Amino acid sequence: MSEQFSVNRELFDEVMVPNYAPSAVIPVRGQGSRVWDQQNNEYVDFAGGIAVNCLGHCHPALVGALKDQGEKIWHLSNVMTNEPALRLAKKLVDNTFAEKVYFANSGAEANESALKLARRWALNEFGEQKTQIIAFKQGFHGRTFFTVTVGGQEAYSAGFGPRPADIVHAEYNNLDSVKALISDKTCAIMIEPLQGEGGIVSPTPEFIQGVRELCDEHNALLIFDEVQTGAGRLGALYAYMDLGVTPDILTSAKGLGGGIPIGAMLTTTDIAKHLVIGTHGSTYGGNPLACAVAEAVMDIITDDTVLAAVKTKSQQYIDGLNAINAKYDVFKEIRGKGLLLGAVLNDKYQGRAKDFLVAAMAEGVMTLVAGANIIRFAPSLIIPEEDITEGLARFEKAVAKIVS
Ligand SMILES: *Cc1c(COP(=O)(O)O)cnc(C)c1O
Repeated sequence: MSEQFSVNRELFDEVMVPNYAPSAVIPVRGQGSRVWDQQNNEYVDFAGGIAVNCLGHCHPALVGALKDQGEKIWHLSNVMTNEPALRLAKKLVDNTFAEKVYFANSGAEANESALKLARRWALNEFGEQKTQIIAFKQGFHGRTFFTVTVGGQEAYSAGFGPRPADIVHAEYNNLDSVKALISDKTCAIMIEPLQGEGGIVSPTPEFIQGVRELCDEHNALLIFDEVQTGAGRLGALYAYMDLGVTPDILTSAKGLGGGIPIGAMLTTTDIAKHLVIGTHGSTYGGNPLACAVAEAVMDIITDDTVLAAVKTKSQQYIDGLNAINAKYDVFKEIRGKGLLLGAVLNDKYQGRAKDFLVAAMAEGVMTLVAGANIIRFAPSLIIPEEDITEGLARFEKAVAKIVS
């Protein structure tokens, strides 16, 4: 290459908008659940690109789908449909409650389309009074202005001028707080069927079923944001399947593409009919290249053996983390489900999750945080047992360093 400059972490500060604080390490290649950086240091990947790389790095079936489609046709726009989009939509419909699919490029965009659809549905079916959207404190739904306002962290939507209106927040796992807000003017409730960014918080069965009932009583749509929990992450293809509660609209992204940007909004024919021609759209949504890769992901994760193994691997993490905790007494609790787990730091280590992440990286294992007090794990759904064992051994070394 003929570059007259060094490609390193310093270059980030020079040329990138400063909205992120990336680590000093720059990974350059990955295989399965191992990643190598510019200096050829090797890492076990427990982060999965924030619950995106559900089949690890460079899975042969995904690379195959990408190469194959890459030599056929990349992009058409929605002026024409394409085979990969149709095949992927058919597989999503066949494997879920949904009858119709809309494709976007990200989780936020999928949620944006879900919210706009809910508002349009309510307007057409009930009139212009029915616009209220109920969401939850600590919830996360993306960073477009609508989705970030629906998200439950005030600070994320502050400082950008007037927010989209009629959005209120209840408390997760507190049905009374939903009852206090809901009325016949409620258009939709948007909820994660396990709060991810907000701290790996599972819903109680009574709560999530109660939310469904309240929606039914008030003719409001229930929107499940499964951007993080979907695509097999919790051990079912979508989390709603294990909860005994079916949403009216479901959004998927992250793991759906296994690393290629894609988002999808799934719903019923009766609701979908309100997004008539011209009401919403996206240049790249349903792009053949992205859909071809996502189709390969779907083919693998709809296999029951892959999903069953998620439960086994989950237990291996929980046992391993409990063993580390028995030695070093750092966690208050290990929580979450499937391969979306959180180790909650105890009182002595409050606010130090990032320190654990940095120490783990130095020992050769990539982790995530969920807030200041929780270390989050979101590895590949097919991470080999040996890699879990090795990664946990490295993580233990990091814990030992912090404790000492
Ligand atoms: C990551 C995430 C989003 C946002 O997805 P983007 O692809 O970053 O827009 C939305 N909802 C949930 C639950 C997420 O975890």
